[in-house]
Amino acid sequence: MKRFLFLAVVICLFCSGTEAQKIKTMIVTGQDGSHWWQGGSEAVKMILENSELFTVDILATPQRGESMESYRPDFSKYDLVVINYGGATWVEQTRKDFEQFVSNGGGVVVIHSSIIPMDDWEEYNNMVGLGAWNGRNEKDGPYVYWKNDRFVYDYSPGAAGYHGLQHPFTVVHRNTEHPILKGLPTVWEHFKDELYARLRGPARNIDILATAYEVVGNASEGRDEPVLWTVKYGKGKVFVNVLGHAGNDPELRYSMECTGFQVTLLRGAEWAARGTVTQQIPKDFPSKGVSTLRKDFKAPFNAY
Ligand code: ZN
Repeated sequence: MKRFLFLAVVICLFCSGTEAQKIKTMIVTGQDGSHWWQGGSEAVKMILENSELFTVDILATPQRGESMESYRPDFSKYDLVVINYGGATWVEQTRKDFEQFVSNGGGVVVIHSSIIPMDDWEEYNNMVGLGAWNGRNEKDGPYVYWKNDRFVYDYSPGAAGYHGLQHPFTVVHRNTEHPILKGLPTVWEHFKDELYARLRGPARNIDILATAYEVVGNASEGRDEPVLWTVKYGKGKVFVNVLGHAGNDPELRYSMECTGFQVTLLRGAEWAARGTVTQQIPKDFPSKGVSTLRKDFKAPFNAY
């Protein structure tokens, strides 16, 4: 009996040790009237936790229209904050807490529509690098896109933010040596999604990792628009993944089912929190002209 108890204690110590090594993650979410943020955040939690690298808490803000005063998450308890949020701007103290968290080396992942809110918060714009809608225009910084083998910073006037109907599109890696992308197929097909275009923002300390081509309205020519990028903010690292629309129905999470979305999210999240990526290259990653799905939000048994 004593031996059994000893064994049980040893096993528990081992378990807690493993748990302690995982990346402690908080998903900030709520209020987004254009997206099924509850389902999207549940999907992100499953993607992260199924990798065995992360533990995830979901912390929703007050409801739309309610006071934001009470929203004071303790960011300092976490290694990583994932923002899947489209609502009211945060109060001053919450902003300061978050700025301090990131400045001190906290990791941040920003998903899809989370580049839209809080346009009135200068440091949030600096953290996301590029934003869209909510009155953003030339006052907020240049358009940034890829043309003739380099990135263009275009200061011409105009509104920020556009998306057409959802469609599949090709993602092209532009920084193939970055730890988030290194070793992955450099051109791959993303499953049906909203492709954000005409982003603009301060674009400081930004490293655009991948683009996708989009034509805006009736224009004859499109642009290679940023879809994955990183931003350095103080000692902190931010990874932005503008893929991952989640519509208002459980059947409308297909953009997040894309293996490309999930793997870049996982690798970007580890990099933002730890500065390195230890994950192997999965065999089910999409490739040129071929999209693949992970409908259960986890890697299939034969992925590694
Ligand atoms: Zn969307």
